Amino acid sequence: MTSKITFLGTGTSLGVPMIACQCPICHSSDKKDKRLRSSVLIEIEGRNILIDAGPDFRWQMLRSKTLHLDGILITHEHKDHTAGLDDVRAFNWLNNTPCHVYAEERVLKSLRQEFAYAFSESKYPGLPEVILNEIDDHPFAIEGIQIIPIRVMHHRLPVFGFRIGDFTYITDANYIPKEEYYKIYGSKVLVINGLRPEPHISHFSLPQALEMIEVLKPERAYITHISHQLGFHRTVNDSLPPGVELAYDGLQIEIR
Ligand SMILES: [Zn+2]
Ligand SMILES: [Zn+2]
Ligand SMILES: [Zn+2]
Repeated sequence: MTSKITFLGTGTSLGVPMIACQCPICHSSDKKDKRLRSSVLIEIEGRNILIDAGPDFRWQMLRSKTLHLDGILITHEHKDHTAGLDDVRAFNWLNNTPCHVYAEERVLKSLRQEFAYAFSESKYPGLPEVILNEIDDHPFAIEGIQIIPIRVMHHRLPVFGFRIGDFTYITDANYIPKEEYYKIYGSKVLVINGLRPEPHISHFSLPQALEMIEVLKPERAYITHISHQLGFHRTVNDSLPPGVELAYDGLQIEIR
């Protein structure tokens, strides 16, 4: 089962560059130092599955030339992972079908509040058409593709990581319960958040992410949800151990 992964965004909630920041990273001319909010597209068996739809969703869909989506998995309700959902309207109209969104109960409740106009009884014409599918920590399928939710903690907020085939994606976490490790073991590719060199209350720092990679032993690992505080892409990437790289916007990988 071959899958193609496209990193649509690899930045933290503020993106890189950050508004008004005068630091050298935010002024870098290296394209790999430009990071939209974190999201990945998984192309598998002719299906397109998206993880998270943040404020850069519209541009990410245009930039990746995505023509349809078969499902959107939402890791958690923070705006940098959900704010773009209104723009599924384009897919609604062109593909003449509603968009399926998958998230746990608490996150669905938040989406119903944040996008109240889209879920009101009296439908205003031209609204996003979204079907909310509730998931829990049990595996489920989208068009026959098995998705395994992985429970991780983002400070006190429970968040889902997801495994699809041999690909595991864990954004916005600073703790992975040991009981969940078995879902990750054997992954060919693990993507994990590594915000910056210093510890943070709700994200793995880069050293903590590297420790988790040591424990979980994927064949390859990529760091995402990166802050300008992490440093220049090239310098940091060169300092990483074998088999670990910083992800960057537009990076594509194939998993066979
Ligand atoms: Zn985030
Ligand atoms: Zn900066
Ligand atoms: Zn978050």
